This record gives sequence, C-alpha cells and structure tokens, in this order.
Amino acid sequence: MSEKYDVIVIGGGPGGYVAAIRAAQLGYKTACIEKRINKQGDPALGGTCLNVGCIPSKALLDSSWKYHEAEEAFADHGIGVGKLNLDLDTMLQRKDKVVLQLTGGVAQLFKANKVDWLQGTGQLKANKQVVFKPLEGDEQTLEAENVVLAAGSVPIDIPVAEVDQQIIVDSTGALEFTSVPKKLGVIGAGVIGLELGSVWARLGSQVTVLEAVDTFLPAVDQQIAKEAMKQFTKQGLDIHLGARVTGSKKNKNSVRVTYTDGDGEHEETFDRLIVAVGRRPYTEGLLSQDAGVTLDERNFIYVDNQCRTDVPGVYAIGDLVRGPALAHKAIEEGVMVAEVIAGEHTQVNYDAVPGVIYTHPEVAWVGKTEEEVKESGEPYKTGAVPFAANGRALAAGESAGMVKFVVDEKSDRVLGMHVLGPQASELVQQGVISLEFGASIEDLQLMVFGHPSLSETVHEAALATDYKAIHVAQRRRKK
Ligand code: FAD
Ligand code: NAD
Repeated sequence: MSEKYDVIVIGGGPGGYVAAIRAAQLGYKTACIEKRINKQGDPALGGTCLNVGCIPSKALLDSSWKYHEAEEAFADHGIGVGKLNLDLDTMLQRKDKVVLQLTGGVAQLFKANKVDWLQGTGQLKANKQVVFKPLEGDEQTLEAENVVLAAGSVPIDIPVAEVDQQIIVDSTGALEFTSVPKKLGVIGAGVIGLELGSVWARLGSQVTVLEAVDTFLPAVDQQIAKEAMKQFTKQGLDIHLGARVTGSKKNKNSVRVTYTDGDGEHEETFDRLIVAVGRRPYTEGLLSQDAGVTLDERNFIYVDNQCRTDVPGVYAIGDLVRGPALAHKAIEEGVMVAEVIAGEHTQVNYDAVPGVIYTHPEVAWVGKTEEEVKESGEPYKTGAVPFAANGRALAAGESAGMVKFVVDEKSDRVLGMHVLGPQASELVQQGVISLEFGASIEDLQLMVFGHPSLSETVHEAALATDYKAIHVAQRRRKK
C-alpha cells in the first residue's frame, strides 16, 4: 500500500520548506520531496535561494564590499592597510560555509517539526497521487490530501550565448569563478546582472553590461533608477542600454560577443560572460500528462490569489507561479497555502511585496512608482530627500542616494516608498509597514525618529511631500 500524507510538498526551496514546516506546525503529516544535490555532492534543502541564489550572492556581495572599502574607503578614515591582498579561494569557501550552515539549519528544522524529507524527484499525477523517485531505490506512489507544488525556477537560456559554466556562465557559474576575470561581460542589466556584476567589479574586473531594453530598471521608480545608473556607472559598471546581443564565439579562454545598439554593430571580447536575462518556471518532469493543473500563457502554473491550482487540493507557490520571483514572496505563499489548507483565511498582500537590489548603494522599493500613479490619473504628491542631508549617512561616508515617497493627494495615503542608499533593504520595511497599516503620510510625519539614524531620511522624505522638510531647502510647487 502506498504511504498517505496530509500534505506533500514538491520542492524544498523557500516556498516549499516553509509550506512544509507551517503545515507540520498545524498538525499535518507532511513530507517534502527535494531532489537537489549540492556542490559537495550531498542532498540539500533550501532551493535556489539558499544554495545558488540569495545567500551565496549576498555572501559575495558582502565580502567584495569589504574588499572595496579596504581598497577605496579606509584611507578616508585614516586607516592604512598596506598592500591589499585578495584570497579569492577563502572568500568562496566562506560563502560555501554560510550556505551549508543555512541549508543544514533547514534540515534541522524539518527534524524538529517532524517533516519527512524525501530525497529525490516528485511528480504530480491525477487524484493527488505523487510519484516519488528516490535518489537511490525504487519509485513509489504516494497519496496526499493536499499537494503543494514548489519546484521554483531556472535561468532562461538564449541561443546567442549558450551557457557552458566555464566561459559563458549563468548566475550559478558566476558564483564560482576561481580567478577574477579581467574583462567580464554581463547580458542583462536586471537584478542578477547588477548584483553579480558589482561583485566582480569590486574585485577588479572591468565589467560591461549589455541590456536589450532602452530604459534602465523599467520597473523601478525612474527618479531612483536614473540616480542608480549614475552611481553604478561611477563605480565602473559600463552599462549599455538598447544593446542586442547577436552572437558569441568562444575561444579557449575568452568569448567574442557581437551586439547592436543605436550606434550600430559592435564586437567585444571578454574573459568570462554572465547570462542573466531572467528565470522561467521549472515544470520539467513535475507534472504527469493526467495531473490536471493548467499552465498560463507564460508557462507559470495557473493559480488563484490564494495559490489554488485548477485541481482541488493542489496548490502551487513561489517562482512557479505569477508575481515577482522573490524568496520572501515564495515564503509568504508557503505560509498562506498551509493555513488555507487548515481552513484559515490568510491572504498575501501582493501590493506590499518589497523589492531589493543588493548593489551599493542598495535599491529598494514597495508599492507604486511615480510613473504608475501618474498613469492612473489620480492626483498625487511626492517627497524626495537625499542622504547627503543626513548626519548618520555622512558620518558613515554613505551619502549617495535618496528616499522618496509617492502619496495619494486626496486621502494622504502612502502609495509607494522608493530608496536608493545605505541599508535601503532595511529602510524599505518602514514603507511595507506603512502600506500594510494603510498609513497616511501624516502618520510618518508625526513620528519621532532616532537621531542620528538613516531612518531620519525616511522622516524627512515624508515631511517633504508637504514642503515641511527641515534639512533640505524646498521650494513649494505652484498649485
Ligand atoms: P526554488 O528556490 O527554486 O526551490 C525549488 C526547489 O525545488 C529546488 O531546490 C529544486 O531542486 C526542487 N525541485 C524542482 N523540481 C522538483 C521535483 N520535480 N522534485 C523534487 N524537487 C524538485 N530572491 C530574493 O527575494 N532576494 C534575493 O536576494 C535573491 N537573490 C537571488 C540571487 C540569485 C543569483 C538568484 C538566482 C535568485 C535570487 N533570488 C532572490 C530569487 C530566489 O532565489 C527565488 O525567488 C526563490 O528561491 C524561489 O523559491 P521557490 O521555493 O519558489 O523555488
Ligand atoms: P531580471 O528580469 O531581473 O533581469 C533580466 C534583464 O535582462 C532585463 O533587464 C531584461 O530586459 C534583460 N534581457 C532579457 N533578454 C535579454 C537579451 N537577450 N539581451 C540583453 N538583455 C536581455 O532577471 P535576472 O536578473 O536574471 O533575475 C531573475 C530573477 O531572480 C529576478 O526576476 C528576480 O526576481 C530574482 N532575483 C532577485 C534578487 C533580489 O531580490 N535581490 C537577486 C537576484 C535574482
């Protein structure tokens, strides 16, 4: 007889492992099927995010920033370090240690919550049956009252630059360069291109980014995006917009890339090339012919706003479904489906999912951009204040960037908060809380903010929406 579970989760990334833990907390007999083998050759939980995504990239962003600071900023503080030395091997090993600590932590949490970790591949069949093919041993068919699909996403391939993980790499390969490429090409000026491009630029690569679209970071508030572009260019990222890669030819240790832009055809040779043109849902092998779930026109699994698929009792979450491909969105959907299974009314607030690009300065936002609000035709007001007017930022030598609010003119409600600057990933959470609580900008204006703190720029930007900022000169717009 096949084993029966209350909940089977397929995929052990941030969406899947959280769904499994929450389901087990709610008293359900739960299994999580995960097929990943990590670079040490061991089965691993944590998905893309912990193994080859959020965590290793942030470890390298932090390490490379420390190196950059030692090289460029310490002298300003009167600190001499002599001749700087880069031990890339140690830097990469440190990253791997952080990853192992966290993925091992998830395995411990599974034990503590009595979630069965089934190591191998899962496939959904009809009637909520799941075929489990273990890493070793025979295939079994499992049954479940509820199935949660959480298989995540994989990088998009483009035929003009085929990834070999040696010379032409995707984000996973770009976390593993064993030496700093002298000339590094990046296709795609999205989140991965900017973050991993920054890592290697700080460590000494000459980085060229080729972006097909004419607008830099089109989803980001354009006042912020324009300033970010200036900052990144100053840091040495050579970003070409409207650049279409037409071909690539690999040699033994380099790749020649051809591309066209407004100025015509170009050719450039790089030591390494990162392809970072987006990710797509990973549905290969996940669904049998008779599984019954529907895909949308972009091959995401079709779900409603509580992640129910078209098959009762089958849910899909995270990068497999519509919405931003972000770990925290996957996590909250994992919690939501476990609670929906338990009959609760949990609903992710998709209007208040923050986005962050972990460059330096960081870019972070939540809610609507000025462009979106303008297009809606509703009256609005904005307030933007630079970190150059913030004592804490100046003391830290971190004065680049700004905080900006977009506010509904009639109701005074906060519609969006946009940050370019130090700790933007932390500061933006104040915008998330404001949106979640339906705050008016006056609420933020009347609060006391600790001095000196970066958050004071949040306060000043809130004040600036009504021409009340103290530490910047503001001229009132004509009504
Ligand atoms: P995944 O994390 O992709 O996990 C899915 C898991 O399912 C995988 O481990 C896979 O092996 C397993 N699986 C697939 N099919 C099967 C099957 N049939 N049987 C068994 N197992 C299966 N997001 C952020 O919010 N912040 C960041 O800073 C950030 N940085 C990133 C940096 C990089 C370089 C990359 C690539 C991504 C980054 N992301 C970041 C995105 C984030 O990693 C994803 O949004 C997140 O991992 C999605 O979670 P998930 O659970 O949906 O899927
Ligand atoms: P992305 O969608 O952020 O950026 C891809 C970029 O490539 C876009 O600007 C696109 O216009 C461009 N592009 C597409 N095709 C191209 C082509 N043929 N030539 C040149 N440019 C092309 O995707 P990504 O950077 O690959 O990241 C994938 C996903 O991973 C993102 O959606 C993001 O949600 C997630 N991620 C998040 C974080 C974070 O939260 N900090 C970090 C890394 C990745």
